[in-house]
Parts: sequence; structure tokens; C-alpha cells
Amino acid sequence: MTNPPTENVPCPARLVPVEDQPFWDAIDENRFMLAHCRCGAYYARLQACLRCDAAAQSMSWVPASGRGTVRTFVIFDKPYHPYFADRLPYVVAVVTLREGPEILTNVVDTEVATVEIGMPVKMVIRERGGQKIHQASAAVQFGEETASPPVRPSPSRSS
Ligand SMILES: [Zn+2]
Repeated sequence: MTNPPTENVPCPARLVPVEDQPFWDAIDENRFMLAHCRCGAYYARLQACLRCDAAAQSMSWVPASGRGTVRTFVIFDKPYHPYFADRLPYVVAVVTLREGPEILTNVVDTEVATVEIGMPVKMVIRERGGQKIHQASAAVQFGEETASPPVRPSPSRSS
């Protein structure tokens, strides 16, 4: 037997700690939400507030802007999982969200060589391997703060 083609390798499953479950439940409903504390702080997971010590249970999940900037990133050009062998290269980045939290994500909708620190991005929800994930789209025009950026439809992929 030879190795199966990579198209048949399942995408690695999401690993969701219990503190992150509300975030991913929202992603599954195509909503990008953050936990919001009464003091104004935001978090991408359910946790006690680092600013005012409020309990995690006191947080409420609210729709977030999804906007942010790339704080740092790495270009992956080797397949660390066989699923990604045909999907190289790709970018893994830390994005600082406008509301404050930092989030680990991919930067998509651009050539990897154009990704740079400080680049504006907008979180989008895409399907990969039958699971919804958040990714940072670089194909977003910023300008008027009141205007909503165009929302690109999720690619419908059967794999
Ligand atoms: Zn707080």
C-alpha cells in the first residue's frame, strides 16, 4: 500500500477547552463573539477578568467587530500535518483584535508574501474539513468606520 493522497487525509479536529466552548459555539452559528466584562474588558474565552477580577460566570458573550491587526506571524512551508501538504504555504498569526484580545488564527485571502505586521484584517468564518473555523481575511478594505466591509461568502467546499 502506498500512502493515500492527501485529499483523503481528514482535517485535524478542533480541540476545544471548556473555557473556549462559547466562542466555538458562536463560530458554529457564523458569529464572531467575545466575552465582555462589565468593566469593559474583552476576552476570547471564558475566564476571570484580568482587569477587575470579576468571575468568569459574570461575563456576557457579545458580537465583536472581528477587526484587528496582525501582531506577529509565521509562514508554514512544511506540512506538520499531512492534511496541509497540498495547502502550503499558509500563515499562522497572532491577531490583536480591536476590542483588545489577541487570537491565534490564519491569515487568508492574500499571498503569504504580502502578510506583514500591522496589517489590518477582518475575521471571517470558513469551513475547513467539515468544521467551522475563524480566519483573518486580508481582503478587507478599511476606511470609513461606519461602513461595513463587504462580506465574502464562504466558499462551499464539499471536502
Ligand atoms: Zn473586568
